[in-house]
Amino acid sequence: MFRERLFEVNNNIKFSCEKVGRKFEDVTLIAVSKTKPIEMIEEYYNLGLRNFGENKVQELCDKKKSLYDDIKWHFIGHLQTNKVKKILSQNVLIHSVDSIKLIDVIEEEAHKMNIHVNALLEFNIAEEESKYGFYLKDLDSVIERVSLCKNLHIEGLMTIAPFVDDPNDNRDIFRTMNNIFVDISNKNIDNIKMNILSMGMSNDYQVAIEEGATMVRIGTDLFGERDYLNNK
Ligand SMILES: *Cc1c(COP(=O)(O)O)cnc(C)c1O
Repeated sequence: MFRERLFEVNNNIKFSCEKVGRKFEDVTLIAVSKTKPIEMIEEYYNLGLRNFGENKVQELCDKKKSLYDDIKWHFIGHLQTNKVKKILSQNVLIHSVDSIKLIDVIEEEAHKMNIHVNALLEFNIAEEESKYGFYLKDLDSVIERVSLCKNLHIEGLMTIAPFVDDPNDNRDIFRTMNNIFVDISNKNIDNIKMNILSMGMSNDYQVAIEEGATMVRIGTDLFGERDYLNNK
């Protein structure tokens, strides 16, 4: 079952890459394992996956501790400022820097711990109230703030598109993200690199890849539906 699911996801990624003349190797698959047990992560580890994503700090810490050291962990959930210290000690890629306040706290804690932290800025392009992330109109002020950071280093952008029946409805959002990704990159701003564009989930990753995603975050298509009742 795991092998077949992974085969299908990889095939879809390849197909989308070919469609727009991109290389399969340029897209990183992040298996979003939130709420799922260690044993399932091991199945995908044994099939070659090394990038896993979690949205709760404690859950990420627990899983990281009991799994292999060569896994790259991605923190993809909303990060509360009181959990910053804890996640910083884990050496993971934070996809979800979503407020100036959070930038301030990460910078301060990273400075105190004398470490360097890589992270992505999360944008809420559709301005959905149920979601976190900067609005497009915040772009200039956010860039200005992070350009002054010494310990927090921005490596790219992330977005969570709305849940839609037809993934093509999210194409404009992904295209907007790619446009700002390229714009920022061309500006060569201190401390801001545009290496990673994290967008696309089970429902819409093929469209996201066509529009330039370099990381896709896939949960349901690999692990099946999440069972929140048994896994709070
Ligand atoms: C849960 C989650 C995903 C995976 O969603 P699926 O639809 O199950 O693929 C991706 N990104 C973020 C930020 C998530 O919280």
